[in-house]
Amino acid sequence: MGGQAAAFVAAVKDFHHRVHRAHRGALYSPLFSVSSAPSVVNLALKLRLARAAAKIPNSSRNGPSIRSGRKRSISLVPISTETGFGSPEGRLRVAKYDVAIIGSGPGGYVAAIRAGELGLKTVVVEKDPFLGGTCLHVGCIPTKVLLHHAEVYDHFKNGAELGFEVSGLKINWGNVLARKDKIVKKHAKGIEFLFKKNKVEWVQGWGRYEGPGRVSVEKDGKKTQIEASNILLVSGSEARALPGIEPDHKTILTNRSILELPEIPKTLIVVGAGAVGVEFASIYNSFGTQVTILEALPRVVPVEDEEISAELDKTFRKKNIGIFTQAMVESVKKDAKGVTVTFKDKDGKAQTLQAEKLLLAVGRKPMTDNCGLEKSKAKVERGAVHVGPYMETAEKGLYAIGDIVFGLPLLAHAAMMEGIAAVTHIAGKPAPAIVKERIPNATYCEPQIGSIGLTEKQAREAGYAVKTGKFPFVGNSKATILGNHGGFIKVVSDEKYGEVLGIHIIGPLATEILAEAAAVLHLEGTIDDMMSMMHAHPTVWEGMGDAFASVRGLQINV
Ligand SMILES: Cc1cc2nc3c(=O)[nH]c(=O)nc-3n(C[C@H](O)[C@H](O)[C@H](O)COP(=O)(O)OP(=O)(O)OC[C@H]3O[C@@H](n4cnc5c(N)ncnc54)[C@H](O)[C@@H]3O)c2cc1C
Repeated sequence: MGGQAAAFVAAVKDFHHRVHRAHRGALYSPLFSVSSAPSVVNLALKLRLARAAAKIPNSSRNGPSIRSGRKRSISLVPISTETGFGSPEGRLRVAKYDVAIIGSGPGGYVAAIRAGELGLKTVVVEKDPFLGGTCLHVGCIPTKVLLHHAEVYDHFKNGAELGFEVSGLKINWGNVLARKDKIVKKHAKGIEFLFKKNKVEWVQGWGRYEGPGRVSVEKDGKKTQIEASNILLVSGSEARALPGIEPDHKTILTNRSILELPEIPKTLIVVGAGAVGVEFASIYNSFGTQVTILEALPRVVPVEDEEISAELDKTFRKKNIGIFTQAMVESVKKDAKGVTVTFKDKDGKAQTLQAEKLLLAVGRKPMTDNCGLEKSKAKVERGAVHVGPYMETAEKGLYAIGDIVFGLPLLAHAAMMEGIAAVTHIAGKPAPAIVKERIPNATYCEPQIGSIGLTEKQAREAGYAVKTGKFPFVGNSKATILGNHGGFIKVVSDEKYGEVLGIHIIGPLATEILAEAAAVLHLEGTIDDMMSMMHAHPTVWEGMGDAFASVRGLQINV
């Protein structure tokens, strides 16, 4: 994109964002006037919203349809006996909802809770017997539990540096896995509690779009139907495989099966150096596994700023993690000892590696098959669904959220905000805009990575006169106290106005201090705004102050 075109696009986005900002004050206020909501919101919905705002119990469950304002069209569906969906078996009941949500991952459950809070009658359809999706059961949460355990183990291993004499240190792997499972279960129950609290119903079964306002739910060969004025498809994603290399979940693993390993492998090959790959590499490296990463692209964590990739590469190698970039895997053969992988290295030379286990971490694909999208006008490209503003597809009243959305990152917090945007829009309130460049990225390997906005290369390609600043954690006293002062914070800014365009952090607590970076971009802060903001001392966070100041050559601690 040329500089002028980029500037125009940026200006349009900016205007869009500012309009939303003007509304923001009213967004969650009980004083928000429903009469100001878009005309699509009809009388019944307005009443429900007004009741919710005034905290008057909603007694109009069998009242008029929210779309038409006429008496609700009643559909009789057999009652499911599943948790939360209803009444005694055998009877028939009325099921008409403002919102039906297919999938209870972070996109689905957050949308459901917010919909409940906004006074929308909501039902969630989930194929599994528990709530929470990939993120809670096999993604974000279990991996972060293992990463935390790995970090604690690292502290014990380095006890001498902290003045502790540690002997007889052992990992009880069974107990580590049990703690992980306990945390996951606790939070799945937490979602059930929040559903009850917000009057969100849920039903177990396979949900499918059946045409405007209709969702079928299939379980054990029986089909029931739900009517809902708005439908959110939030069916998530699954691990991709490489052609000819099928996971057997014993030796060739995915992000699911690696969580079930009965013991820590002595050797592990990780194919793919994106967030999932480097997190597992980091976990098992800490637990003593000899890990080797094979990445097809020229650098690890390829979506990050180039300097971040270089720093992670350097640190991983120091920890004795083997890395081959531009490595093209050609075959994986299972044998008595595990796997033998043949790949072409970056010089085109054939190499082989042997390991007990192999993890395939080569990306994720949207799960939209058999969800009924063919019955809609939604545009689907390679399984991913195109959406307009507020996540609505080309089919009115059908929304797509989370990992199935075309062109947005596959991240839990992105899914959550997309769900909030959709239901807020449905409730007729000004909804938050989803701006791709303002979605934070957090990778929880050691060292951690936190980033948001444009990389230096992207900013230059977009035509900005780029000015960068960099603060190494070696100058931060709290980082030294933590015994973890590798890495840096890099700020990418526009020289002309001092606008902060991107922030890239690698080092201690990077995923936590990312909070300030996200706020700066969200509120369109400048370098000068941030240089005048106080940071508490001594914190790792105060490194942000030095990083902003370094853009002007005014850093204090280095
Ligand atoms: C190993 C790993 C680590 C990750 N770590 C992080 C992290 O630290 N931070 C982060 O932001 N992201 C992380 N992610 C990504 C994150 O998990 C996803 O972006 C997020 O779960 C997407 O949410 P979702 O609601 O779109 O889908 P999902 O969480 O996949 O949920 C979809 C739900 O829909 C259900 N479903 C599917 N089809 C149907 C159907 N037809 N009927 C009924 N139910 C259906 C599924 O059972 C599932 O419960 C990680 C992913 C992996 C694999």
